[in-house]
Amino acid sequence: MTDTPAHKPKMEIRIIPVTPLQQNTSMIWSTETMEGVFVDPGGEVDRLMEAARQHGVKIVAVWLTHGHLDHAGAATAVSQRTGCPIIGPHKDDQWLLDDIEAQGAKYGITDGKNVRPTRYLHDGDELDLAGNKFHVVHTPGHTPGHVVIYSKEGHLAFVGDVLFRGSIGRTDFPRGNHNQLIDSIVQKLWPLGSQMRFVPGHGPMSTFGQERQDNPFVGDHVV
Ligand SMILES: [Zn+2]
Ligand SMILES: [Zn+2]
Repeated sequence: MTDTPAHKPKMEIRIIPVTPLQQNTSMIWSTETMEGVFVDPGGEVDRLMEAARQHGVKIVAVWLTHGHLDHAGAATAVSQRTGCPIIGPHKDDQWLLDDIEAQGAKYGITDGKNVRPTRYLHDGDELDLAGNKFHVVHTPGHTPGHVVIYSKEGHLAFVGDVLFRGSIGRTDFPRGNHNQLIDSIVQKLWPLGSQMRFVPGHGPMSTFGQERQDNPFVGDHVV
């Protein structure tokens, strides 16, 4: 018997800020198969597709953390151009996905399209990208159907508008809930480990450990 070396996932990531709201669209891909996904393609579909072309990435799915237009606005366009499925968010955000075109005008984002996901996500779901496994947690508060998608092996989480470097998501939008958001962060994200790096919907990356240390809203000194 010989030992088979464990399969080491090989992934790359690029963060592409889009729309006037500078939302972080992530492109992650397998360096083995060059299959990739866009996480939260909020707009500027031409730029996103050009980034995929430049890196030689074949987009096989769109993953959405929540239904706000700056995160989901280009999902339908990407899906139409590539034929890929739209996965997520949780079905409790469908009312927002149905309202993207109407909301767009308010924010000067006129190329957004309403979204009908191929598949909704639920707490505990798993996603696969060319053999790289991702997990799903349902994290309501900013929106009722918000999810966080993370890779254990890659120590990387896509947290949308739940958590930011030094801040947390807004809850003053319709169906926002501040206490629920705090619970989502403390009870569902912190247990994933302090080492976990995260890509927020806006602004720079950080780690859960860093935020536990000094985030004024959810640091260990305040919760
Ligand atoms: Zn949002
Ligand atoms: Zn946002």
